[in-house]
Amino acid sequence: MCGIVGYVGYRDCTEVLMDALSKLEYRGYDSAGIAVFDNEEIKVAKSKGRLADLAEKMKKTGRLSGHSGIGHTRWATHGEPSDVNSHPHSGERVTIVHNGIIENYKALKDFLVKEGRCFKSDTDTEVVAQLLDYYYDGDPIATIAAVTKELEGSYALGIIFADFPDTVFAIRRESPLIVGIGEKESFIASDVPAILKYTKNYYLLEHDEIAVLSRYSTSIYDLHYNKINKELKTADWDMDAAEKGGYEHFMLKEIFEQPTSIKTTITPRIVDGLPNLEECGITMEKLNGYKQIFVVACGTAMHAGVVGRYLIEKLARVPVNVEIASEFRYRDPIVSEGDLVIIISQSGETADSLAAMRLAKKLGAETLAIVNAKGSSIAREADMLIYTHAGPEIAVASTKAYMVQIAVMYLFAFELALAKGKITEDECRRLTSLLTQIPDTITKILENKAETQFIASELITADSLLYIGRGLDYALSMEGSLKLKEISYIHSESYAAGELKHGTISLISEGMPVIAVATQSDLFDKTISNIKEVKARGAKVVIVCRDSYNPDKDVADYKFGLPDEVEDLFMPMASVVPLQLIAYYTSVLRGNDVDKPRNLAKSVTVE
Ligand code: GLU
Repeated sequence: MCGIVGYVGYRDCTEVLMDALSKLEYRGYDSAGIAVFDNEEIKVAKSKGRLADLAEKMKKTGRLSGHSGIGHTRWATHGEPSDVNSHPHSGERVTIVHNGIIENYKALKDFLVKEGRCFKSDTDTEVVAQLLDYYYDGDPIATIAAVTKELEGSYALGIIFADFPDTVFAIRRESPLIVGIGEKESFIASDVPAILKYTKNYYLLEHDEIAVLSRYSTSIYDLHYNKINKELKTADWDMDAAEKGGYEHFMLKEIFEQPTSIKTTITPRIVDGLPNLEECGITMEKLNGYKQIFVVACGTAMHAGVVGRYLIEKLARVPVNVEIASEFRYRDPIVSEGDLVIIISQSGETADSLAAMRLAKKLGAETLAIVNAKGSSIAREADMLIYTHAGPEIAVASTKAYMVQIAVMYLFAFELALAKGKITEDECRRLTSLLTQIPDTITKILENKAETQFIASELITADSLLYIGRGLDYALSMEGSLKLKEISYIHSESYAAGELKHGTISLISEGMPVIAVATQSDLFDKTISNIKEVKARGAKVVIVCRDSYNPDKDVADYKFGLPDEVEDLFMPMASVVPLQLIAYYTSVLRGNDVDKPRNLAKSVTVE
């Protein structure tokens, strides 16, 4: 949440900051702002709304011109989205941008007000700007170190001091921050895609490290002014990964990237036809020891965990609890040594998931992270780590990251089942080989995207709809429903098909859309009966099922067919594709901003 950037170098700073922010806009778009050293003076331009609004505003107020500065794109936590609450925030001699939450901002603000300071905004961030100014004695590093002792909460800060032109300072605690190193230029950014156009080399800033960027040198210090030598990392994503590449939206591009993402994620983890997660720290011996597994995550990643639970319990017969991270961390969970806690997070920075993982470690459990962003906090702190290789996911609504999280859950479930002696090596080999065929299946399904466009056109006027399914189909429906509501703003719920008649069926009225997923052979007849129940009460039913099934009129109005050759166990990877596309087209047809849905942001670094 919130993207921050900073630049020092020879290029036009406004151009670099605006471009870098455009790559981080997925993190928040309540407002945008930049501060630039313009003729050795700090000048600020900021505006409520999108980056485009800021660009428009600058056309009228004048473009800031210089070679160093900081920028921000906001997801508001304290203070409504407005011009005045937009970052950067300034004290007299200091201007900052901030990602995070200052938990003790009220006490600090009261103190500063007593000291005669005036505040312009309602944000927690302005307190940091004023406090830096209050302590400033001409030594930026000492001042930053002193101020961080007073702050409680999370922050990544980009800071400029009026009397240090062409120098950008940065510090982080909890919120992510990288320092990009180019030729005679350097950058700070909340995430790698922001700097890819300029450099692939970067440092990962650790907690309480202070970066000092100037045109010819960039140094990193600890809070006691000791210089730190850090390993320079190289991003393995190229610039195209952060561009739309001819697609109308990032979401559509990312849906189409799924076959490749699955291949790059699973191929290196298959050796001689069997899953092999040893390089991730997972051995057969370890696997054999786990008696209980928790999967802890938020949002879409949590839904990947629900699919994982079905797979693990079915194949390996190990009990699995799937938990929402924000609940798990505060409910005193019964977790102990011998348990495995799997944390799933695309960004690896999800605040609740990170806290849940730390709690699990404290309770003695082993932790396994399934993460997409390299070097992120969750990746670094987990005992074992499986990276998903989806590349950067820019659309706020997750698609390819979910797909590869599931793909990893399959590999993990196969290996666990083998370690537990619940499947033979031959069976494990067979299942692994079926998994490798899924990318081609998905490519085939994507060819039918026009059908999903038609189905979406039938949904756009609905006020509310339901997703139903049983077993793995129910697990999948949860994700389909979330995707639709995230980007179309149509209310939607997913229900276990057999549970409907215990209450929710009263919601069904004439013409209400119900999307039914019915791919599981052993549950098929039962699901069809449930579908008939809603159809008989006036629902407009869309069925996602095998190609060979032709529904009668009393079952469904529309059908999306999936290739018959896919085994039941693998159907989630196939059926999620039409559900993603239906959500996508519904959003497009309703004229929404598909990649940046209202009120949302990606990489939820606040609780
Ligand atoms: N707390 C700051 C604000 O509301 C930053 C928010 C964030 O990083 O999400 O402006």
